[in-house]
Amino acid sequence: MGFDAEIDNSERNSVVENLKDEIQCSICCSIFEEPMKLDCCDGHICKKCFESVKKKFQNCPLCRKANFTAKFSRLMVTVLSQYKLFCPAEECNESVLYVNFAQHKKTCPALNKKPCPSCKKLYWHKDFADHFLCFEDIIKKAQADQKKLKDLETKNKSLKQSKESLSQNNKNLIALKTEHENKIAELEQFIAEDSKKIKNQKNNLSFLNKKISENAQKEQKKQKVWENKLNSAISESQKFLQQAEYNESRYSMLHAIVHEMTDKAERMKSDKAFLESELNAANNEIINLTEKLMANQNKSSGFFGLF
Ligand SMILES: [Zn+2]
Ligand SMILES: [Zn+2]
Ligand SMILES: [Zn+2]
Ligand SMILES: [Zn+2]
Repeated sequence: MGFDAEIDNSERNSVVENLKDEIQCSICCSIFEEPMKLDCCDGHICKKCFESVKKKFQNCPLCRKANFTAKFSRLMVTVLSQYKLFCPAEECNESVLYVNFAQHKKTCPALNKKPCPSCKKLYWHKDFADHFLCFEDIIKKAQADQKKLKDLETKNKSLKQSKESLSQNNKNLIALKTEHENKIAELEQFIAEDSKKIKNQKNNLSFLNKKISENAQKEQKKQKVWENKLNSAISESQKFLQQAEYNESRYSMLHAIVHEMTDKAERMKSDKAFLESELNAANNEIINLTEKLMANQNKSSGFFGLF
């Protein structure tokens, strides 16, 4: 196949301009590459074009003669060596001498490098296959990743549902928590009040304890006083008892004395009665005597004055 390239005629060479149709292959419609001259009709054709036509057809593509042959055309190469061709790669567009064009086609990065559809970096054609293997790996990986992504999406969906239910639970728990917190605050208030009461009661209790111990001390003192009093009373009563015993003995003694005296009195009574009777008798005697005396006096009134 020929060179599919534009001719550089910036030098405005008339020969170059005039012969530009003569250097084009009528099979590939490009500028000759390795031009051959057909023996049958002196026409020119690229070496590769000749080989491909020869395989498919028996007749010359230009003059239709059978069993056509061709030879390398030194003359056409000399003509072509006057030409400069632009590199067909837009990024290069270098003006290259015809004799160097085949080499340029092999080495021009713009022609021989291809951007990777994935990473967009430019690679030499020979390396591109390897890179493309990488790319296949990437595709496989991407497919695996896509599968993973799908799995993850389904997982994500279920997780989202879980999350929604959890957030609902969370809301409920938060509500419960606030409720409990309020209750706790209420209870804390109660506890504070109770502890206040307890403190007051403790104070009262300690006050009462103090009083009780004070009273106990007082009671103890009182008890001691009473004990002392009791002891003194007991000793007193013992004294009384001794006195009583003494009195009793004295009483019995006195009783005996009284008995004795009663007896004496009795005796004296009888004595008195006897004496009274004696006295009466004496009195009677006195009266008798007095009467006798009176009578005697009356009898001796003259003598009365002598007494
Ligand atoms: Zn021919
Ligand atoms: Zn050709
Ligand atoms: Zn180039
Ligand atoms: Zn790449």
